[in-house]
Amino acid sequence: MDERSAASGDFLLGHRVPENEGEDACLRTGEQYRQSLRDGRRVIVDGEEVEDVTVQPGLKAGIDTFAALFDAQFDPDARDVTTSVDPATGRRIATGWLVPRRLEDLARHDAQIRFSTHRTLGVFGRPPDYGPVKAIGFLAFRHLIERDEPEAMEKIERFLEVGASHNLISADVIIDVQANRKLSKAEMPGRLRVVEERPDTLVVYGAKAGNTMMPQGNIGTISMPPPARDIPEECMLWAAVPANLAGLTLVCREPVTSGRETRVDHPITAAGEEIDCLALYDHVEISRDYVFSYRNRGIATIYTTLGRFAFWKIICRLSHRAELFAATAQMIVNALGTDHVPAVRAMVADVIHYAKLIRACVLASMEQAAPTPSGVLIPEASLVTAGRLYAIEQYPKIMQVLRDLSGQGLISRVPESTWMRSDVGAMLDEFLPGHDVGARDKNRLFNLVWDLTCSGHGLRTALFEALNATPAPALREDLYRIHDNPEARAVIGELAGFG
Ligand SMILES: Cc1cc2nc3c(=O)[nH]c(=O)nc-3n(C[C@H](O)[C@H](O)[C@H](O)COP(=O)(O)OP(=O)(O)OC[C@H]3O[C@@H](n4cnc5c(N)ncnc54)[C@H](O)[C@@H]3O)c2cc1C
Repeated sequence: MDERSAASGDFLLGHRVPENEGEDACLRTGEQYRQSLRDGRRVIVDGEEVEDVTVQPGLKAGIDTFAALFDAQFDPDARDVTTSVDPATGRRIATGWLVPRRLEDLARHDAQIRFSTHRTLGVFGRPPDYGPVKAIGFLAFRHLIERDEPEAMEKIERFLEVGASHNLISADVIIDVQANRKLSKAEMPGRLRVVEERPDTLVVYGAKAGNTMMPQGNIGTISMPPPARDIPEECMLWAAVPANLAGLTLVCREPVTSGRETRVDHPITAAGEEIDCLALYDHVEISRDYVFSYRNRGIATIYTTLGRFAFWKIICRLSHRAELFAATAQMIVNALGTDHVPAVRAMVADVIHYAKLIRACVLASMEQAAPTPSGVLIPEASLVTAGRLYAIEQYPKIMQVLRDLSGQGLISRVPESTWMRSDVGAMLDEFLPGHDVGARDKNRLFNLVWDLTCSGHGLRTALFEALNATPAPALREDLYRIHDNPEARAVIGELAGFG
């Protein structure tokens, strides 16, 4: 073990954490990840400044869940999925940081996402394996960046190297804060902007919204949401920042978990949440080493291109979630003994249909993946966008199907503490068994369905799925823009009798 990180003096590595050596040098245990969060960051939850996020009740359980995903890098049964040997360097790295250059690399990412989704039910939209997406996106489309900013590539490569070798988790820092939308982009009061340009740093002032899991992560990747045409130049910034940057305050939304939930009564909620926050930058200095692009109108408008790898990872997670929804539907009807009812079977089939179509988009997008000029293999974008649009638009319907299938199961649930009472426990056991399942196990199944479809946690996740990485209207616009099938147009032109 050594203490490379802080000693390196790297802008992104504000934390001092002992690291591993040998084959594990680029990996982190859950405890090392926890330690990396005790770095003097300024986080506010429920009006209180948090001294140590790893013990704050609303943040702790989510951090523990992330920590377990890091520990899985050392678990002999999971190591081959959670880590990969980087063909470029021969080093073992977290699979999330693997730059996909071959189909088998994309398959490794997909398997890793399946693993983390199965561990968490996919309710974390920003698990550790998601973090590197922006860095990989920058590398993939380097030809669009270095055309205008040749020095950016060296910085992006350094970013990838530091991120991969320290196994960092990154948040997406993209969306502007919500204010009066009738104002022009230049007039918008909170828009993050550079207020001073120093030789080695840019000083920024303003805010960003969303920032999901930044208080529980290491770094954030700043970029701009589309459309960015009328954004003032001093706001056109792509950069990476550490979560403990001096002058940065992370103001968290009210947590939807209390930290007191038990695995029996709340199997999903007890695993915690990824917190969203407002990030307030009060004259914060960003090292130019990690400013990839500044005042560049060309790059400001290619968010959806640079985001393609990220969007694919999102749809992979959605596809594995959808398979779990189908399994949930099947378990509900099996437990209730309603599986022989044609109308019930049709509802379950709707969930299976949802899962299969999303999965088909993932697989087809991989089959049609093409290398960018820098050799990064990017899945076909229109299939990803179409699949994602379908997945997020149908999501509320699928949640409602699970509620419908459950019927009173969702409100006839009884907390374990009540079940333990001698005056009612035996009667509950006697009155509530399901088909081939005891009353308590049936109760636990509906606890899970409640967490998934009815709880504050479930609704926050639904909100995340609907809005993260741009909502449905933006996806439709993207699909319209990127889809083209000249052959089909030629067929129609010929049939229509065009010359
Ligand atoms: C749980 C959650 C987590 C999030 N995490 C992140 C994150 O990690 N990083 C990040 O950068 N962002 C994050 N976001 C922000 C998310 O990307 C935005 O909420 C989303 O892109 C919509 O932008 P907005 O909220 O600024 O909408 P606004 O511009 O404030 O508009 C409000 C609503 O009006 C409608 N609307 C407005 N303009 C149009 C239009 N031109 N066409 C059609 N409809 C329109 C849409 O329904 C829109 O949702 C998160 C959001 C949520 C809810």
